[in-house]
Amino acid sequence: MTTGRRAVLPAHLRADCAACTGLCCVVPPFDAQQGFGFDKPAHTPCPHLCGDFKCGIHADLVDRGFRGCTVFDCHGAGQRVSQQLFPGQDWRDSADTARQMFGAYERMRGLHDLMALLYTASVHVDDARLTAQLDAIEHQSKHTPPDQIDAAELKRTTMALLADPAIRAALQALR
Ligand code: SF4
Repeated sequence: MTTGRRAVLPAHLRADCAACTGLCCVVPPFDAQQGFGFDKPAHTPCPHLCGDFKCGIHADLVDRGFRGCTVFDCHGAGQRVSQQLFPGQDWRDSADTARQMFGAYERMRGLHDLMALLYTASVHVDDARLTAQLDAIEHQSKHTPPDQIDAAELKRTTMALLADPAIRAALQALR
């Protein structure tokens, strides 16, 4: 049963690179085998990241072996950290700022992925438990300091909910 909501993620769950400080180009490790051109350790800037946080090879990503960058989506975690949690701050300013911003991004990535999953499921399955879980995670992501959020527990409860027989059957019927 559909709810009539559009199956398009809301703006805060879609990456807005122009509002981010290039966190996805710095925080995660890269694996050349997964379409990121070369291996890179975590918390290290990609050498193609420019001073204005734009990509220096944006027009040639696929040809240069960075197909992974063209499909990656932080689901809004980058702008959440850059604009709301650390407004006006730059991870390049100090090691302490970098540590805090990177840690917040890693936690927000997990939460925003879960919210995107729940939102998509709630568009297609009319089950109040989905929207309740989505609202609970939204609330925590806005009102709880990132280092106090139990992301592992939120992931566990979300995955358990999505594995619920009624919800899973409804989602599988859409395929
Ligand atoms: S290639 Fe461009 S988009 Fe990909 S990580 Fe490097 S700077 Fe970011």
